[in-house]
Amino acid sequence: MKGITDRPREACGVFGVYAPEGEAAALTYMGLYALQHRGQESAGITVSDGKKLQLYKDEGLVPEVFSEEILEGLPGSLAIGHVHYPTRGNTGYLNAQPLLVRYRKGSLALAHNGSLVNSPALRAQLEEEGSVFQTTVDAEVIANLLARKDREGIIPALVDCMQVFQGAYALVLLTRDLLIGARDPHGLRPLALGTLPGGGYVLTSETCALDTIGAGFLRDVEPGEVVVVEAGRLRSLRGAKPLGRALCSFEFIYFARPDSVIDGINVHLARNRAGERLAREHPVDADLVIAVPDSGTSAAIGYARAAGIPFGEGMIKNRYVGRTFISPGQKAREKRVQLKLNPIRAVVKGKRVVVVDDSIVRGTTSHRIVKLLRQAGAREVHIRVSSPPVISPCYFGVSTPTYEELVGAQNRVEAIEKRIGADSLGFLSLEGLVESIGMGEESLCLGCFTGRYPVTVDN
Ligand code: AMP
Ligand code: SF4
Repeated sequence: MKGITDRPREACGVFGVYAPEGEAAALTYMGLYALQHRGQESAGITVSDGKKLQLYKDEGLVPEVFSEEILEGLPGSLAIGHVHYPTRGNTGYLNAQPLLVRYRKGSLALAHNGSLVNSPALRAQLEEEGSVFQTTVDAEVIANLLARKDREGIIPALVDCMQVFQGAYALVLLTRDLLIGARDPHGLRPLALGTLPGGGYVLTSETCALDTIGAGFLRDVEPGEVVVVEAGRLRSLRGAKPLGRALCSFEFIYFARPDSVIDGINVHLARNRAGERLAREHPVDADLVIAVPDSGTSAAIGYARAAGIPFGEGMIKNRYVGRTFISPGQKAREKRVQLKLNPIRAVVKGKRVVVVDDSIVRGTTSHRIVKLLRQAGAREVHIRVSSPPVISPCYFGVSTPTYEELVGAQNRVEAIEKRIGADSLGFLSLEGLVESIGMGEESLCLGCFTGRYPVTVDN
């Protein structure tokens, strides 16, 4: 298979709220803050006060983009928000969401998490018919198509579009008086529904945002479902026929926050189970289990428990450095790992250390970690990974590198072990991953581990 396309991957966080008391922008701000791990490139909020839509977005982290003053200038009881993940190539303000478009029926704002595999074809067709595009994001293709199809209202237009879309989407849409959520027929990306204590509804990529704003969890939006909040009431309709659930397993491995619950499964506990299973699949005689913080922590705790080896903090993460993938180019990425992680010499010195990480993608992180731990005096370094080797790119919104850059696609485990310089290396098996998530293989997308995807991809 040839490598990933150069299209941006829209791995992001979306949020939407109807807050009868009118503080929709402030709640969205807090919600986006809780979803910050899903995207650090840009953040945006669109509000409606019932008469008009207003948008504010910019590059940067949520607290960098919004001030109290800006939020006060966004009055209204309906809002949607978005945090955008750094994409390959073109980034920046233009691709920030929500997108706000004005068309013959009024104004429409939308925010998208996922990636439509047929968006190049849809875009080409729209361009052929005279549309002009300012961005490279799928959200603009979606907005264009919605605007065209809107003859009898935005909801039938959305349902029409859902017959055409192929791939992953968790969408939140806003008009002057409607908040709408939609999830693709495979449920590839998560989308949860919550309620506000004083009345009102929330849509969010992850439930951790509900906890943050004091909202209750109502349920997950079902694959293929459209939910509409109108005049304070919630209704649901079928947008597209469900095609067999295929929730992204990488949400459980790396992407989601451990305190989130996705389709009924707590992320931290799933990672714990993965770690326990990993200890059984790849045991090793060692003195200490440490995690690659933070994404490896839940699995490392599970590994230590099942192996009967003490768990300790052996590496400290500088929390003010963005995720490793942000750096373009291999050299910069290697430097970044160093900037980000520092071993605690006094803890690891002279020890046989098991290091648990959630995934190996390019192999850069593990290579650096082995080196840093040896420099800090570790006697042995055993890498344990709580997911199988990534052998294939993602086409559904998770930012993975090209096929050529995936160390798991290019090498067998022994060769990776050698390359990263570890004393031993063990990956969780596919069955182990599926069992630890606890949803059944038929309900998950495992495409980046198997090369078999729930939706046909042209590559
Ligand atoms: P690598 O250095 O390329 O092997 O990256 C592995 C590290 O990146 C792991 O520690 C993961 O926590 C993290 N990671 C895994 N998948 C992704 C992703 N799609 N985007 C950003 N970081 C990731
Ligand atoms: Fe998730 Fe991998 Fe499927 Fe992409 S290919 S949706 S990262 S499981």
